[in-house]
Amino acid sequence: MSKNITEKVHCLIIGSGPAGYTAAIYASRANLKPVLYQGIQPGGQLTITTEVENYPGYPDGIQGPEMMVHFEKQAERMGADIRYGLATAVDFSSHPLLVEIDEEKWIEANSVIISTGASAKWLGLPSEQRLNGFGVSACAVCDGFFFKGKEVAIVGAGDTAAEEALYLSKLCTKVHMIVRRDQMRASKVMQDRVIKTENIEVYWNSETDEILGENKVEAVRIKNNQTHEMTTVPVSAFFVAIGHKPNSDIFKNYINMDETGYIQTIPGTSKTNVEGVFASGDVQDKNYRQAVTAAGSGCMAALDAERFLGEKGLH
Ligand code: NDP
Repeated sequence: MSKNITEKVHCLIIGSGPAGYTAAIYASRANLKPVLYQGIQPGGQLTITTEVENYPGYPDGIQGPEMMVHFEKQAERMGADIRYGLATAVDFSSHPLLVEIDEEKWIEANSVIISTGASAKWLGLPSEQRLNGFGVSACAVCDGFFFKGKEVAIVGAGDTAAEEALYLSKLCTKVHMIVRRDQMRASKVMQDRVIKTENIEVYWNSETDEILGENKVEAVRIKNNQTHEMTTVPVSAFFVAIGHKPNSDIFKNYINMDETGYIQTIPGTSKTNVEGVFASGDVQDKNYRQAVTAAGSGCMAALDAERFLGEKGLH
C-alpha cells in the first residue's frame, strides 16, 4: 500500500523531553527548520515529577512541569515547529527517511532525531491493570497526595523506589515496601534513609501476589518467596517503582539496540546505525538518565544532524 506522504522536512525530532527540546533549540538556530512531534506525554517524564534541584541555572530549584514549559517556549522562540502528535511507525529502509504520524500521514525527513525517552515498567498482574488509576500508580510524586493520612504499598528497590517510599512516608501513615531480594539495588545513602524511617516497613524476599479491591485498591497480598507465606496488608494505594523501559519499539526493525531496547549510538556521538538517524536522551541512555545529560545529548544530536545534512549537500 502506498504511503500518504504529506510533507518533507529537513529535521524531524520525535519526543518532547529535555533531549527533544534541546535538539529543537540547536536545530532551529542552525536553520534546519525542525519539526518536533511531542508524543503522548508532552514534556516527558519531568512533567510527572515535583521539584528539580539539580538542573544548573535554577539556583532555587524549579518544578518539573514548569521547567518543561520553559524548554518548549525557548524552542518555539527559536523557530521550532512544535506539534502535538505521535510517531506511530517508521520506514528507514532508504533515504529520505519516513516517519508515520498518528497512523494517518507520513513525513519524509532528511534527518531524524529520536528523543522518545522511557516509560515506567509494570508488574504485569491483571489486578494492577484493572485498578490502574484507582489506587495503582507508577508515580508517587504525582499521586501520593491523594493518599495523605492513609497506608500505602510500594514495590521496587532501586533509587526511584527508595526516593518515592521516602516521599510517601511524609504524607502517609505507613508505607509497606515490597523488595523481591534480601537487599536493595538503591544507593547506600538512600537505603539507609529508608531503613531509618520509622513508618516504612520493608518486606524482604517478597513479591506482590495480588492487589485486592473491587473498584479501588483495598489491600495487597504479599508472598514471601523463601517461606511462601502470604500476608494480606490493607492499603489504599499501590505504587509501582520497578524501573523504566525505553520507548523504542517502533524503531526495532531498523535501529540497533541492546537486549533491553536501549538504542545504541556510536560512542561519543548521537549517530545510530542508520545514516541520518540520531538518538538522544533516555531512549539511548540507561546509565545517567538525568535531565541535564538528556539535554546535552539533544544538543549533540542536533549538531550531528547539521553536519550530516551539510556533508550530504542537503542543507
Ligand atoms: P532500577 O532499574 O535501578 O531498579 C529497579 C528496581 O525494581 C530493582 O530493585 C529491581 O529489583 C526491582 N524490580 C524490577 N522488576 C521487578 C519486579 N517484576 N518485581 C519486583 N521488583 C522488581 O530503576 P530505578 O527507576 O530505581 O532507577 C533507574 C536509574 O535512575 C538508576 O540508575 C538509579 O540509580 C537512578 N536514579 C537516581 C536517583 C537519585 O540519584 N536521586 C533517583 C532515582 C533514580 P532487583 O534489584 O531485584 O533487580
